[in-house]
Amino acid sequence: MRYVDEYRDAGLVKGVLEEIRRTVIRPWVVMEICGGQTHAILRYGLDELLPPEIELVHGPGCPVCVTPLQLIDQALAIASLPEVIFTSYGDMLRVPGSHQDLFSIRAAGGQVRVVYSPLDAVKIAQENPDKQVVFFAIGFETTAPANVMSVIQAKTLGLKNYSILVSHVCVPPAMETILGSPLNRVQGFLAAGHVCTVMGYWQYLSIAEKYRVPIVVTGFEPLDLAHGLLMAVRQLEEGRCEVENAYPRAVTQPGNQAAQAMIDRVFQPCDRHWRGIGRIPMSGWGLRPEFADFDAEKRFQVGHIQTQESKLCISGEILQGLKKPTQCPAFGKQCTPSTPLGATMVSSEGACSAYYRYGRNQ
Ligand code: SF4
Repeated sequence: MRYVDEYRDAGLVKGVLEEIRRTVIRPWVVMEICGGQTHAILRYGLDELLPPEIELVHGPGCPVCVTPLQLIDQALAIASLPEVIFTSYGDMLRVPGSHQDLFSIRAAGGQVRVVYSPLDAVKIAQENPDKQVVFFAIGFETTAPANVMSVIQAKTLGLKNYSILVSHVCVPPAMETILGSPLNRVQGFLAAGHVCTVMGYWQYLSIAEKYRVPIVVTGFEPLDLAHGLLMAVRQLEEGRCEVENAYPRAVTQPGNQAAQAMIDRVFQPCDRHWRGIGRIPMSGWGLRPEFADFDAEKRFQVGHIQTQESKLCISGEILQGLKKPTQCPAFGKQCTPSTPLGATMVSSEGACSAYYRYGRNQ
């Protein structure tokens, strides 16, 4: 990527952090929505360089972390079938289900393949007409365009052996759930720049107004994050509750309208269960009835599978900004990246994995 070095320039970042120090007077709790932002914050040590008045809490924007255990068990049941080639992004392979993970299915002879795009999965379906090819379509608004594109392409090609196991979730309903909770601690948000690249930020205007909370669309490099935080802190200190864009090189208010139209053609809003958080009404997308033939849950009839979450795992509280990973009694003990109890310890965007990886043990 060109021009990325400027956004990692230590001198420029220090200058913005100094400006935050000059601006902040009172204590504030700010949540970065996206797990990619959480990892960047810890990787570059921004959390340790901020003035003590600012507490960062980590949001639910890690797709692997919020995918329900039940859906992972459904994926495992499908992937175990001899006629199936199960395809997924690499992150999902190590996420434990109730008894095993996709890696162990593969080790036992199951056909589980890592792909970098659902369009690769469509190609596999074309090349293997005697197999059922399933793509694990999880994620937020960011990954939805590619997933719906794969369905449109499979339909155009007349493929009868391609389907997706869908668990798409959307950011705005999760923000409203966090803000509407009587336990809420979040006073300002850094919204996820990549989500807003697709969806714009028009959906956040009513949230900022209704809950009187500043929302700053923020990128992923250290300078982006420091700049987004400075804008949020300025709003908090000045008593403003606006939606501002600190990522204008990628995001516009309307977003990518062609992508939004394509999503709307294939998906419709539906209730979704968020791992650790629970059911949030109209917080995700599912396939429209006219694309039901591509719904793996219906094709393989795995909708009845029910599961129990680990009682030790407090990831739901972490993803709502109520606790930090180090407040989990299992952190670094029963739960490590090699013995994960929850998805937040496995995912490359999970808050627990970030704390473990970058040595935030206190
Ligand atoms: S440390 Fe492990 S058990 Fe605790 S919240 Fe994180 S993933 Fe769950």
